Amino acid sequence: MESEAMGGHVNVMVPLESLSLELPNGEILVGYDKDISDLQEEISVLRSRQRHLDRRRREALDKLIDLKGSIRVFCRVRPFVQMNNLKTKSSVNVEQEKIAVKSVGIKKEFSVDRVFDQESTQEDVFQEVKPILRSALDGHNVCILAYGQTGTGKTYTMEGTDGKLGIVPRAIQELFSHASEDSSSTYSFSISMLEVYLGSLRDLLAPRQPLFRPSECSTACNLSILATKTGAVEVEGLTDVSIPDLKKANQWYCRGRRARSTSWTNVNDVSSRSHCLARITIRRHGATEEVSKLWLIDLGGSERLLKTGASGLTMDEGKAINLSLSALGDVIAALRRKRSHVPYRNSKLTQILSDSLGDGSKVLMVVHISPSEDDVGETVCSLSFAKRARSIESNRDIPEDLKMLKQKQIAELDKVVCDADEEQKYLNEQISRAEITLEEKKKLNSSICQVLSDEKGSPRSTLVIGHTDATESPHPTEKAKIRVSHGSVPHFMSSTVSSRQRHSAGSNSVSNPRLAKSVNRYQAELSGSQSFSYSSCKNAAKASNSMDSTAASAPQRRGSFVSRPVQRAPLHQHRRRMSSLT
Ligand code: ADP
Ligand code: MG
Repeated sequence: MESEAMGGHVNVMVPLESLSLELPNGEILVGYDKDISDLQEEISVLRSRQRHLDRRRREALDKLIDLKGSIRVFCRVRPFVQMNNLKTKSSVNVEQEKIAVKSVGIKKEFSVDRVFDQESTQEDVFQEVKPILRSALDGHNVCILAYGQTGTGKTYTMEGTDGKLGIVPRAIQELFSHASEDSSSTYSFSISMLEVYLGSLRDLLAPRQPLFRPSECSTACNLSILATKTGAVEVEGLTDVSIPDLKKANQWYCRGRRARSTSWTNVNDVSSRSHCLARITIRRHGATEEVSKLWLIDLGGSERLLKTGASGLTMDEGKAINLSLSALGDVIAALRRKRSHVPYRNSKLTQILSDSLGDGSKVLMVVHISPSEDDVGETVCSLSFAKRARSIESNRDIPEDLKMLKQKQIAELDKVVCDADEEQKYLNEQISRAEITLEEKKKLNSSICQVLSDEKGSPRSTLVIGHTDATESPHPTEKAKIRVSHGSVPHFMSSTVSSRQRHSAGSNSVSNPRLAKSVNRYQAELSGSQSFSYSSCKNAAKASNSMDSTAASAPQRRGSFVSRPVQRAPLHQHRRRMSSLT
């Protein structure tokens, strides 16, 4: 931009692509660049607020999960299976956090973090699981395990049925849904699935699945567990497939489930004596890059060998399951007691999970029980396992006043997380709206520049757009600022003495009819864009109104811009100057 004092007047010249400026005399030039930079500024402010909120939510969620316990134990009671329409008496009575087991010669009470009774739905369970998924998205390793006797509903809870989806498909859905809503980070996911059987590991997503029989185990299950220097654990050679969308994720998950079942002759029998693990690796690309693992595990049946009357291979399978489950119980108990030695190495299962059970990780175990009197022995065993896993932080050990304080803190943190989530949603909407408007403006701007450059033969031409009295100007130094901010223009593009004389002679009366036409069109284009600044619209309107009389006879023109009509740019003069150069 260039300003020249001449006879007490100043000609303000701006490059064509910088046409939305508030001039020192208060006049606003219609154009887009100022709007664009305002929008960019607005988006960056919103994004920084978003980052701040995300930090606050993460901190609150972390505290919340720690207060609730980073190892949580839930109990789900399977509904009665009615046999021959006989009404069977239930051996369990449940409250929100308590289960009482009563039967002949047995009367025991257990506390857990949450009880899901026989009427509970898949949705009820998932609602309690959701917060821990957010932790996984925030960069923590997370383990969700289904524990219990065979037939008590572990697979039902984890996988679900067609109309009643379980934790795994819902969790996958939740991850993708959160990823699409969170505009502050981008996420990528990958999935692996494996089975642990008789102490061996089998890749469920490997390209070709060899028939998995115990006799072939040494060749079929050749995966080994590696611990990296950073403490992360990797299963060597385990297939890890990228899942770009929900559909692909479900396809791979179904494929893994099929691979587990089709290789066995007696599916229920054997699947209850193996552990099935699905691992979703979450990569969050935000201000920093974070990688976390979400383990979703359907454990083998925990029934006692004596009851099943097992022998031979079944006995070995049962022993292997029992060994790994008691190793898991030992690890969780050691972690709960904050022991310096955690016996991860006692089983393959705990080795694989060693970076996802300890410090910084979140663990959720859903212990499944049957309400049947016949299963009361197993029910007591499963609940004893649950009790051991959570014995240290059990609410029963906490004095009443501390318990109240804890509940108050939990409620407060819950509110912080919810409020932050709400505000995030609002910010996301604002950002996407601002981004759409910004794109529209950029497109419009570039098409206008294109039109003008077509007309003028140069995209960086300069127009004389106004005359202001230098002596009247309230902020003379502002002009210099504008000049600096828009760069210098070639000397030949400055107004000449004769052009200035021509201009000042005609400035009060001459209007460019082409320009008037273009303003009308401009307004029509702008009407679709809600965030176009009010002042700009107002000026454009003023300009077009005062030029209406000349517009009728004007030839059609594709687009242009204008300040106040009396200060209209003498396009024709400039064009003449440009053409005289060629
Ligand atoms: P597990 O995996 O522990 O051996 P399953 O998940 O296979 O047990 O459940 C055994 C049967 O009980 C299945 O037919 C399942 O659909 C049914 N079932 C288990 N829990 C529930 C529940 N909460 N609601 C309805 N049906 C259930
Ligand atoms: Mg099962």
